[in-house]
Amino acid sequence: MNTGDLHSLASSITAVASPFRNYLSDVYEKYRLLDDGVVADYIPELALAKPEWFGICVVTKNGQVFDVGECDQLFTIQSISKAFVYGLALEDHGREYVNTKVSVEPTGEAFNAIVLDEKTNRPYNPMVNAGAIATSDLIKGKGATERLKRILDMFKRYTGRAHDINVPVFLSEKATGNRNRAMAYLMLNFGMVSERVEETLDLYFQQCSILVNARDLGMMAGTLANGGINPVTGERAIDERYVQDVISVMLTCGMYDYSGEWVYRVGMPAKSGVGGGITAVAPGKLGIGTFSPPLDSKGNSVRGIKICEELAKDFGLHLFNVAKPDRVLEDWIAGTGDADTW
Ligand code: GLN
Repeated sequence: MNTGDLHSLASSITAVASPFRNYLSDVYEKYRLLDDGVVADYIPELALAKPEWFGICVVTKNGQVFDVGECDQLFTIQSISKAFVYGLALEDHGREYVNTKVSVEPTGEAFNAIVLDEKTNRPYNPMVNAGAIATSDLIKGKGATERLKRILDMFKRYTGRAHDINVPVFLSEKATGNRNRAMAYLMLNFGMVSERVEETLDLYFQQCSILVNARDLGMMAGTLANGGINPVTGERAIDERYVQDVISVMLTCGMYDYSGEWVYRVGMPAKSGVGGGITAVAPGKLGIGTFSPPLDSKGNSVRGIKICEELAKDFGLHLFNVAKPDRVLEDWIAGTGDADTW
C-alpha cells in the first residue's frame, strides 16, 4: 500500500461520523490554545517547528483511524524511535542476549544522563540515550546502509508507508552529539557495544531523524495495541513474542524522568520525543499519536500529555483501571448504546 492509498483509506474511515470523532475535536479545541512549554532548540533545525502545530490521531485495534488537526505535518521521531528499535534488537538477538547489553530498570534521571549500572556496566534501559545507543549497536546488517534500511523497513511495517530521514537534522545531531559519543565510548570501554562505534552513532542519529507525522505515531501505537499487526494494512511489524517486552519498558521508562508520574496519571505505555511526538498504547484497544512541539522541562510535549490524560480518564484506558469509565469506548466509536451517554 503506498502513501496515497493509506491517506485515502485513512480519510475514508475518518469521514464516518462518530461521537468519538466529535470528542477528539472537543479535546483538541480545549488544548489548542494552551501555550505552555518550549520548542526544543538544542539544534537549529528543531527550533524551526511552529509552536501551534497540533495533531491527534487514534487508531483502534480494528483499524479505524480518527485524526484531528495537523496529522500530515512531518517532524523528526527522535526518542520515540528507541522503543521500536528495541523491538527489532529483540527480534535480532532474543530477549536473553539483549538483556546482557541493556537492562530494563528506570533511572529517574534525564534521558541524556551519563550513567551505567555500577555492577554490570549495562546502560539502565533502552529508552535513555545510553541504552538506545547500545540497542542500535545490536541491529544486524552488513554495513551502515543495510542496518539503516532494516530500521526504515521496520517503521514502514508499523506505519504502512515509507519514511525518509531529515538529513539536516541528522547532520546537526551528529555534529553536536558529543555527549552521546562520550556515552558510546564509555560503553565500548566496558564491552557493552562493539567496535563499530561511529557507525552505530550515525545509525542512532539517523533513527532519531526519521520523519513521521501524528498519524504514523497513531499507527505505530495501534500496531502494538493490536499485538504487533498493523490494523490497517494487516502486515506484521514485530514478532508477537516481543510486543509485551517493548510496551513494558515504554510503561516504566518511556516518558523520561516523568515516567513514574505518567504511569500514575495516565497508565498507558508510551514514548515521547523532543520533536514533540508522543505514541501511547492502550493494549488490546487502541493507539494514540500526538504531535505538538512545545515541551515541558523534562522534554515531553505539553499538549500531548494533556490529550493522553484526558483520553485515559474519560475512557478508562489506564492499565490498572477497575472503575466504570465515564464513557464506554466502543459505544463512542460506533455511536451505539444510549445516545444520551455520548
Ligand atoms: N536526538 C536526541 C538525542 O540523542 C534525542 C532526544 C530525545 O528525543 N529525547 O539527544
